[in-house]
Amino acid sequence: MFEPVIGLEIHLQLKTKTKMFCSCPAHADPSTSSGLSGAAPNTNVCPICLGQPGTLPVPNAEAIRAGIRMGLALGCKVNVSSKFDRKNYFYPDLPKGYQISQYDLPIVSGGMLAVEVIGKGAVRPIARIGITRAHLEEDAAKNLHGEEGKTFVDFNRAGVPLLEMVTEPDFASPLEAKVFLHELRLIARTLGVSDADMEKGQMRCDANISLRKRREDGSVEGLMFNPKTEIKNLNSFRHVERALAFEIDRQTRMWEQDTPPAVSTTRGWNDAKGITEEQRIKESEGDYRFFPEPDIPPLDLTMIAEECARSLPELPAAKRARFVTEYCLKKDDARQLVDDPALAAFAENVFSELHAWLDALPANEGASEELQAQEKSRIGRLVSTWILTKLLGLMSERSIDIRTCKVDAENFAELIVLVATSKLNAARALEVLAIMLESGADPSHVMEDRKLGAMEDTEALADAIDRIMVQHVAEVARYKAGETQLLGFLIGQVVRATEGAADAKTVKNLLSVKLG
Ligand code: ADP
Ligand code: ZN
Ligand code: MG
Repeated sequence: MFEPVIGLEIHLQLKTKTKMFCSCPAHADPSTSSGLSGAAPNTNVCPICLGQPGTLPVPNAEAIRAGIRMGLALGCKVNVSSKFDRKNYFYPDLPKGYQISQYDLPIVSGGMLAVEVIGKGAVRPIARIGITRAHLEEDAAKNLHGEEGKTFVDFNRAGVPLLEMVTEPDFASPLEAKVFLHELRLIARTLGVSDADMEKGQMRCDANISLRKRREDGSVEGLMFNPKTEIKNLNSFRHVERALAFEIDRQTRMWEQDTPPAVSTTRGWNDAKGITEEQRIKESEGDYRFFPEPDIPPLDLTMIAEECARSLPELPAAKRARFVTEYCLKKDDARQLVDDPALAAFAENVFSELHAWLDALPANEGASEELQAQEKSRIGRLVSTWILTKLLGLMSERSIDIRTCKVDAENFAELIVLVATSKLNAARALEVLAIMLESGADPSHVMEDRKLGAMEDTEALADAIDRIMVQHVAEVARYKAGETQLLGFLIGQVVRATEGAADAKTVKNLLSVKLG
């Protein structure tokens, strides 16, 4: 059996104000973080990023901090004595004829990121991916291919800070690579170091893949690591997954025909054709003639590393775990909430409003711990359902984003309280929520305005119940004869008769009494 061996190299464009070694803006409009698209070509340039002779690069402290933070989040060790090196090659998008990068002393190395692998094609529940290293470097310019075979160069991107992260060949399936990249994007967004949007080129991925033979007894036959294919410049999650799947098929056929890849090669992904295409025989490291950048003194990162370690925010994995233990959420609900940092923050605020309310509840004062835990878990489920299905459902129908949503956490928590205390049934609460989305009003005002409260007039409710019992004498008789499951049917009839105004729980109590 052949098993895939996959390692990723990821370039992350850092969201700094200025470029890696000069003071040019790193983004066309810092307020939109839309990358460099939007600025007219060759407007964000200066003698330094154009590689003019006699200019001196000055490392960007914000980029260094971003790289260290990302490294710490990936469990890496910070190399406090780090340095920059020149990587030499000739290409029109590289004005100096070399790229300032890091060779043997990257800012961080030796980390690990564990990701949960759910979905079709999962070969193990958790993938632990070693992080070899991450280093800082400058982006190249962008070649624009115009008419008549002409190529233009836009230097706006030249010198934008990049963090290149290299993983160990630890992925066992294309799905694992995709899940890992999703988590990496979420971490970058959580830290605020990059928007990591692959479609915008803010995160770019080279995927390395080879196969090896595994025997029935679990041992590897032949080499652990065989010559690999490096698929360059994948710019969407889908492309990564598809390209890797294609390569697995292609290499499997080569192995089956007893002609496995003899040398490592570089290929490109052609998405239209759905195939990888040979690009060139890979150059070896020697071809780059790396040497220390003489214009930048070695770095001492001791102070910066300590400061970054102290101020690292809670990471997605920890937040997911905490949402489960602290708020009694289901694992999958916690994952969905944490996937969007703004949504996670909203949920967090809703819970803190609710816990103040829960604690203040007189009924809770003398309640046993078990009862309190039960109530907490009920509220937790209520909140996640109401956010993930109802609120997000209404929002997507209206193309509203959580960042622009008018419903604040306080009002949303109040709505949850109304539902939890049966002052509002689910159908009515959804109507109230829709109105809250339009106006941002608080739910009790909406209820008063629209007379949407639950039917608290017990006399009217008792009448409604009596009517239903008369209309459904047969069912009532059968219930009394022991078909207790008919209670649900009768409750439904009453709720319908009151057009949803009656609260099911109250109806149940009253009906049970009336039915004896
Ligand atoms: P090179 O520089 O020769 O391309 P590296 O050893 O620097 O190779 O590794 C580059 C990336 O390729 C890393 O992410 C690494 O995990 C991965 N990789 C290395 N060897 C293999 C292999 N045999 N199969 C799949 N991936 C590999
Ligand atoms: Zn510049
Ligand atoms: Mg290498």
